[in-house]
Order: sequence, then C-alpha cells, then structure tokens
Amino acid sequence: MPPVIEDSRLLPILEKVEAGERLSFQDGLTLYRTNDLLALGYMANLVRERRHGNVTYFNVNRHINPTDVCVASCRLCAFGKRAKDPRAYTMSLEQVWETAGRGWTEAVTEFHIVGGLHPELTLDWYCEMLRGLKQRFPQVHLKAFTMVEIAYLAQRERISVRETLERLMEAGVDSLPGGGAEIFSERVRRIICDHKIDGQQWLDVARTAHRLGLRSNCTMLYGHIETDEDRVDHLLKLRALQDETGGFVAFIPLAFHPANTALRHLPTTTGFQDIKNIAVSRLLLDNIAHVKAYWVMMTPRIAQIAQRFGADDIDGTVVEERIYHDAGATTAQSLRRSELLRLIREAGREPVERDTLYRPVARTETTVTVLV
Ligand code: SF4
Repeated sequence: MPPVIEDSRLLPILEKVEAGERLSFQDGLTLYRTNDLLALGYMANLVRERRHGNVTYFNVNRHINPTDVCVASCRLCAFGKRAKDPRAYTMSLEQVWETAGRGWTEAVTEFHIVGGLHPELTLDWYCEMLRGLKQRFPQVHLKAFTMVEIAYLAQRERISVRETLERLMEAGVDSLPGGGAEIFSERVRRIICDHKIDGQQWLDVARTAHRLGLRSNCTMLYGHIETDEDRVDHLLKLRALQDETGGFVAFIPLAFHPANTALRHLPTTTGFQDIKNIAVSRLLLDNIAHVKAYWVMMTPRIAQIAQRFGADDIDGTVVEERIYHDAGATTAQSLRRSELLRLIREAGREPVERDTLYRPVARTETTVTVLV
C-alpha cells in the first residue's frame, strides 16, 4: 500500500519509480528538497525490495590502516597527520601482518585496508604487505586502497595509474574500497580537500581499475558545505561511469564527522539527513546493485532503520576503526556477528552473510564456504 504522499511534487517521481524509469537531475533535486521522508522511504524501499527482496547483507571483516601519515592536509580529515606529528604512526610490515592476525578467526572474509598518503612508503612496500597478507591469510579478500592512494602512488613512482594497479593486483589486491570520492564539485573540493586529486581524476582511476577487471565500491561524503545540486551531480556522475563500466559493486553514503577537523564548526548530520541520503541514492543509482548503510558512521540505530529506506547492507564487524573515530564517531569500534544479525532480524529483514563481492557465505562450526 503506498503511503499518503503529502508532497505532491513527488507524484510524477512515484510514477517513474513504479514504472522502473530512470530519474533525472531535476527529480534528484526534488527528492533532496522534500521533507516527506515516508514517501521517499516508500519509493526507495520499493526499489530495494525489487532488487533484493527481504534480504539484508553483512560481512565479517577487519579494517587495517597501515599509516596515518599523509602529505595532504584535507580540511575534512581528522585522521591524516604530518610525518613529524608526535601522534603519527606508521606500522612496519610485521605490525601490519600482526594487526591482521589480532583476534583472528576463520570467520573473517575481508581485510579493508586504507591509509594516508605516506611520502616514503613505496609501491614495493605495499606490494610486500599484500603478498605477506595473502601468504598468511590466503582465503581472505583484500579490499585495499582508495582511488586517491592509487593516484598518489602512481605519481610518487612516476608510472601510470594502470601500471600501479597492475602491480597491486599482481601482489594480491582483489578489489577497491571506493573512498576518497568526497563530493566531485570543484568549488567544494577547493575548500574541503584541495590537496587531493579532483573529481575527474577519481573517476578516471575508477574507470581504469574497472577496465582491468577490478571491482570497486563508490562513496559520497555529505553533510558539510555541499548543496543539493552538488549531491545530485555527484550521484549522476557515478551513475554515468557505472553505465560505462559496470564496475561498482556498492554505493556508500558517508556522513561527515566534523570533530577534530578544520571544519569542526559545522554541525554533525542528523538522522533525517542520513536516512534521506540513503533513500535518494537508492532512487538515483538505478544501476548500482547495493546501497550500504555503514553503521560506523550512521550509528547502528540509524543503519537498522535505513534497511526500510533503501539500504540492503549494513557493512561488517569492522573490528578496529580509526578514521571516523579520530573524527569523533561515538559508535563502537566493532560489532559482533551476533549483534549484526540482531540489527537485521529486528528490522524484519533476513540476514545473509556475504563476501566482498556479495556472494553468500555458508558457515558451519569449522568451515566457511563462499557459495558461487
Ligand atoms: S582525507 Fe585522506 S588524503 Fe586527505 S588528509 Fe586525510 S588521509 Fe590524507
């Protein structure tokens, strides 16, 4: 039963959604400008259930951040530090491998590896790190390096992005996590992350990766100084690249956390904004299979509700998260598998454990099998 649509501007959009038609830039603006959250949720849920039925995905993963040393000084960031900063850290290879193994169980199917743009760590160092991980944990999928890190490594080594990716793939990278996209608007990037590659370069790295056969996620950082137009533009640029390559697996809207950043005067996002971003992205990104409510950023409570507003994934156990906790995230640093199951079941959804590429994982007491 459709809800009472209070905002009549949504009626033509509802018709398009019901007919499975693509939404326009103007539709995106209307979606962002309505406060009729229940109508938005109804439409996004329609699309979500058409694609995934009652299933919500999660995984058992571990985050590893090898270094927080970074040559960039993005105003949005609380994680990156200058090499001379006494709080900065860089793990040795042994420490990376030890971290991966800390609290290790056979249940882990993914290492999520991202870090700062370190001026001295070479491509060879990263390749050795990957080989060491593959050797010690051969069954674990390595989802590693943002488009920003890859572009920096290529520039540092004076080789092409393509060659950088080929060498990382040879060493063990299985897919890319999709961070660092922020907002593609040049006006906004100049203020929040002017030391980073621009939006076009981010898309170019993703295109090259997809053409080499690497799948990736994609993201959008919202809740800072961006406009409705900036968000719609960002989403439609991702949609256009997906039309071209089909390489994006999941989209993750990331709520900006201002604490300890140079933008700390900005307010944090509200639950209303978080839910709206999930719903609008589900509606605009008609060619990306999964929309993830990342509980670390949204809180488990909002991620749980998001399952009825367009999200079909709430991410994983995570184990140790630094980047958003440096920026004041007050969520736990990890959730147990049983807690994820509860968040999903209590929302009336059916939990399906997945690997990074959304293949269901079957578990017994002693074995983990990816069902292809
Ligand atoms: S956002 Fe990334 S590139 Fe920018 S300062 Fe932080 S770690 Fe460095």
